[in-house]
Amino acid sequence: MTTEDAILEALKGVMDPELGLNVVELGMIPEVRLAGTHAIIGVALTIAACPMRTQIEGDVERRVLSLPGVETVEIRTTVMRRAQRATLMERARKNARDNAQQTQVSATTRVIAVASGKGGVGKSTLTANLAVAMASLGLEVGVLDADIWGFSIPRALGATDRIRASEKKLLQPVTAHGVKVISTGLITESEETALMWRGLMLSKALEQFLTQVEWGELDYLLIDMPPGTGDVQMALSRLLPQAEMLVVTTPQLAAQKVAIRVADMARRSFMPILGAVENMSHFECAHGEKYAVFGNGGGTRLSEDLNIPLLGQIPLDPAVVEGQDTGRPVVAYLPANPAAVAITELAEALMRVLPIADAESCVGRLAHIFDNFPPLPEDLLTP
Ligand code: ADP
Repeated sequence: MTTEDAILEALKGVMDPELGLNVVELGMIPEVRLAGTHAIIGVALTIAACPMRTQIEGDVERRVLSLPGVETVEIRTTVMRRAQRATLMERARKNARDNAQQTQVSATTRVIAVASGKGGVGKSTLTANLAVAMASLGLEVGVLDADIWGFSIPRALGATDRIRASEKKLLQPVTAHGVKVISTGLITESEETALMWRGLMLSKALEQFLTQVEWGELDYLLIDMPPGTGDVQMALSRLLPQAEMLVVTTPQLAAQKVAIRVADMARRSFMPILGAVENMSHFECAHGEKYAVFGNGGGTRLSEDLNIPLLGQIPLDPAVVEGQDTGRPVVAYLPANPAAVAITELAEALMRVLPIADAESCVGRLAHIFDNFPPLPEDLLTP
C-alpha cells in the first residue's frame, strides 16, 4: 500500500515544463495527505492564471492515481506568496546553472513509452504509426527505438539514412515521414550486425540515446520499449522522470497477463500508465462481418484490472503489415483504412490525456508582470 512519502516520491516525476525541475523540488506541493484510499494533494502555482495549470494538475492526478491503493485524488490548488515565488525562481535558476541538462530531451517534451509484455503484439507498428499521425498534425515528434537488438522502427518508417555526428559531437537523428528517428538499426550496417549489440546493456544504450542525441525541441518523444524488461523501465524513469507508459496488448488472455506484469513494473518505478490499447482486435472481411481472430476482451480486461482507460482498439488488417514491411506507414499511405483511422484516433486520444506543453509560459508572464506592475494584481493571486 502507498504512503505519503511514496506519493511525494511519485510526484517528483511531474516536471514544471519550463523550469525543468520537478514540482516537489520547486516547493509546489505544500500538502500531501492520505485518508484511506483518498489522497489530498496541495498544488501551489506561481500565478493563478498559470497557463500550465491544467497540465500540472492533470499530471499530478495521474501520478498519484498510478500508485497502488489510491482510488481518488483531490487537488487543492492555491497560489504562491511572493516569498515562495522568489524561492522557486532561485531554485530554478540554481538548477539551470548546476545541472547542465543531463539528457538532450527538453523538459517540455512529453515522453510516451510504448510497452508490451511480449513481442509480436504490434508495439513497434503502433509506435511508428502513432509518430507519423502526430507529425502529420504539425507536431515535432521523435521516435527512440529502445528495442536495441529487435529493432523494427527503421523498416517501419522506411528510414534508410545513417545517423551522423554533428560538430557538437552529438548524434543527429534521421528524419523519415517528418519524424526524427534513432535506432541501432540506423547505426549498424545491416540487420544482421545487430548481433554485435547483444553485449551492450540495454539500459546503457537507452542512456546513450537520451544523452548523446541532439533531439531538438520535441513535442512528443515516443519510445519503442524492448519487450518485458524491467531494467530499461527503471533506467527510463531515472533519466526521464516525465515518461509515461502506453501498454499494448492483444485480445488474447496470455498477452493481457504479461501486459499486467509490465504495467506493474512501471508502477513500481513510479511511471504512470496513460492507458492501454488493444491491437489486432478483430478482422473485418469485405462483407463487413467481424471475426475475433484472437478472441475477445483482452484490452477491456486489462484496462479494468489496472484501472486505466482503454484508449483504442486497432483492427487486424493486411494493409498494416504491408505498410510495416515497405516503410509506408498505413496512417500516411492509406489514411481511410479502418486500422489507420483507429490508430489516428488513438494518437488523438493520447494527445488529449497528455496534451503538449502550452507555448505561453508562466515564467514569461511573471517576468512581464514584474516588469510592468511590481506589486502583483490581486486577481492573479486568487485561484
Ligand atoms: P512488436 O513490436 O510488438 O514485436 P510488431 O510491431 O513488430 O510487434 O508487429 C508484429 C507483426 O504484426 C508485424 O508483422 C506487423 O506488421 C503485424 N501487425 C501489427 N499490428 C497489426 C495489425 N493491426 N494488423 C495486422 N498486422 C499487424
